[in-house]
Amino acid sequence: GRTFYSVAYNKASPISSSRSELNWGDTTTYVAKKKLQAWCQLSNGNWELGTIISSSQSESILSLSNGGVLKVNNDSLLAPNPEILNGVDDLMQLSYLNEPSVLFNLQFRYSHDLIYTKAGPVLVAINPFKEVHLYGNQYIEAYKNKSINGPHVYAIADTAIHEMIRDEVNQSIIISGESGAGKTETAKIAMQYLASLGGGSGMEYEILQTNPILEAFGNARTLRNDNSSRFGKLIEIHFSATGKICGASIQTFSNSMQSRVVQCEIGERSYHIFYQLCAGAPESLREKLNLRIANEYKYLKRSNCYTIAGVDDAERFHLVVDAMQAVHISKNDQESVFSMLAAILWLGNISFTVIDNENHVEVATDEGAQTVAKLIGCTLSELKSALSTRKMKVGNDNIIQKLTLSQAIVTRDALAKSLYASLFEWIVEQINKSLGIGKRHTGRSISILDIYGFESFNKNSFEQFCINYANERLQQYFNSHLFKLEQEEYIQDGIDWAKVDFEDNQDCLNLFEKKPLGLLSLLDEESTFPNGTDLTFADKLKQHLSSSPCFKRERDKAFTVHHYAGEVIYDTTGFLEKNRDLLHMDSIQLLASCTCRLPQMFASRMLSQSVNAAANPYKSSGVDSQRLSVASKFKSQLFQLMIRLGNARPHFIRCIKPNNSQLPENYEQGLVLQQLRCCGVLEVVRISKSGYPTRISHQKFARRYGFLLLDNVASRDPLSVSVAILQQFNIVPEMYQVGFTKLFFRSGQVGLLEDTRNRTL
Ligand code: ADP
Ligand code: MG
Repeated sequence: GRTFYSVAYNKASPISSSRSELNWGDTTTYVAKKKLQAWCQLSNGNWELGTIISSSQSESILSLSNGGVLKVNNDSLLAPNPEILNGVDDLMQLSYLNEPSVLFNLQFRYSHDLIYTKAGPVLVAINPFKEVHLYGNQYIEAYKNKSINGPHVYAIADTAIHEMIRDEVNQSIIISGESGAGKTETAKIAMQYLASLGGGSGMEYEILQTNPILEAFGNARTLRNDNSSRFGKLIEIHFSATGKICGASIQTFSNSMQSRVVQCEIGERSYHIFYQLCAGAPESLREKLNLRIANEYKYLKRSNCYTIAGVDDAERFHLVVDAMQAVHISKNDQESVFSMLAAILWLGNISFTVIDNENHVEVATDEGAQTVAKLIGCTLSELKSALSTRKMKVGNDNIIQKLTLSQAIVTRDALAKSLYASLFEWIVEQINKSLGIGKRHTGRSISILDIYGFESFNKNSFEQFCINYANERLQQYFNSHLFKLEQEEYIQDGIDWAKVDFEDNQDCLNLFEKKPLGLLSLLDEESTFPNGTDLTFADKLKQHLSSSPCFKRERDKAFTVHHYAGEVIYDTTGFLEKNRDLLHMDSIQLLASCTCRLPQMFASRMLSQSVNAAANPYKSSGVDSQRLSVASKFKSQLFQLMIRLGNARPHFIRCIKPNNSQLPENYEQGLVLQQLRCCGVLEVVRISKSGYPTRISHQKFARRYGFLLLDNVASRDPLSVSVAILQQFNIVPEMYQVGFTKLFFRSGQVGLLEDTRNRTL
């Protein structure tokens, strides 16, 4: 089962269950008071603060804000925090760390436009979906000279830059959250701050200009987010010894991002750049590329959505061109990029004519085929044969097989997708070249990671499988970091550390990574079998992995993984095809023979990425390029990422989406709660709860509660006063520890003292 980092944890300890907070706090004391309030859960699942009007041994009756009353079991009531704690800027200051208290505190702040809150070492950011006045030079200055210190992305960036300089340790800012939660905006806000503090060389401008380019090519409108990034990104910003920016490099992570180029859901869009090009290209370019408006291209037409409210694609096009200029992509190269985009769009307009009753096809000699041939630099007949035939080797003979209509369409779409994937990769490379020029090797850097959070939908496919695997890795990193931080603080203050428990997710990582019998290995193995199907893959998983504590069999082609953030059922439909990402050798050869530079380069890259390509380019049946599988590529990108992060001190930002409608002033408790669970915030809270989350200096404690003392204490030093208070209130030794500088309390303890204090005042 699950392993624990430390051993001396007592399962029977009353602090391990959240419900016990009320029990040990004593329902009796609780109920004896007048106008007592408690969290109760309504039938819709939301929590509300009710006032207890009467109470028996087992049940209480509460009045609600809407005038109604509710009868509930005492066990299901949770303790609210004293009012003085309303809206505290660090959840750890809460005396009761139960879910409704956390939810309410975040909501309280959110409703005052305080979208940032700390959860111990983690910054929680709730997407306001409106302009909030928290950014810009004035705020940057204020954080720079420490005249403000509330939780903020700026504060995180400020800490990172100072710790980098002071301790000579690389830093990372890890931003995660669901689609639409605000990761990309948050990353840009952090970059803004770093650019402002480390600016001066002009390099900071270049770095900021990478955003419009990568967003144009890698973001799209989806049903969840008008500007959804379909790739993960790590940008490493390099600093000179004096703390000035001197360069940067970008690494991207993606799995099947290119599928959107040929197909997306109704109401969604393909990548922004296609619409920007169609709307914004100047006349001369339009002519050269034979450009039309977006709705004349079949690839864009399928989802029936061409514009985004409030966005002017033509204007954006010019911003992207300016940004390409800023990162030194030459006019010539820019034009090559636009030709590739136009070629991809025209590929979608190529049609096929059925020529026999076996459904074999020929490519129609229409505007689509003619334009594509011209744009990539091949002859019409080369293009036609690459899209309608396949060279095969049978024994010693080379034969040419005609493709059926559906095979031809798959071939055409695969070409469009791989052109786009190659183009995206190439652009990132150009950006890296440009940002790397001034890079001196001081070795100091701050990395910002903007990556998908954990995803669990009704239907989960290959994309979710890869994303959630990455999140397991990141979660392990997160846990071990938190564990270290907590440990350091306890040890520093001389606290007995063995009493804190810590869960890890190694079992789940093993399920994915074990060789030869793990999810990834079995997927790759099945993908190389010509006869492998999604069903045979699912069967193999069930056959080999059922003994894992994190795996559950499901019916048909499905299986369940028990992730740290909950169970997810994956449907293996499409897994093998997406993982193989095949491009026919005929298509690669077509690109290789083109006279244009980009397709040629793409082809040679594809060949070099092929497994055993050099030794035998016509491996297996002789038609397919056996490229590294998508999952293997993703895994190796992830390992590179983990190595980079391993060398840096992390800062975590968790973005939360308060509603699914992209609306301001709209806080859905259930939705927020589910994300708090997935992004590890409740884990932080849970970890803290199992330790000693409330920490108060001896001085502060003595000052706040000293007047409650009934007897005079011999010595008035803060430590003696504090100890006398603890004794007078019979706080049992399991509930606190006395450190060198601070008192450490189990959760809820200070709430009790606060109650007494309030009654006395
Ligand atoms: P993600 O990258 O997590 O998918 P984005 O960063 O693209 O999400 O944010 C989605 C949208 O939410 C943005 O386009 C913007 O409208 C809004 N948004 C996010 N963060 C903020 C913020 N700090 N202030 C104002 N609006 C924001
Ligand atoms: Mg994004």
